[in-house]
Amino acid sequence: MTATKPEKCAHPVCSCETTADKYCSPECEATAKNLDIACGCKHTECKGNSTH
Ligand SMILES: [Zn+2]
Ligand SMILES: [Zn+2]
Repeated sequence: MTATKPEKCAHPVCSCETTADKYCSPECEATAKNLDIACGCKHTECKGNSTH
């Protein structure tokens, strides 16, 4: 089994997908425990990122 299926980032409000890790970015991992903070990843497609 070599196929890696994309999974949603473990950050609740992040909409990114990740194949390599539980989170799509270190920013998500850092903010995942604080649900008041939006996802801080730099991905433009992310719907949980309030900075863009
Ligand atoms: Zn994100
Ligand atoms: Zn994420």
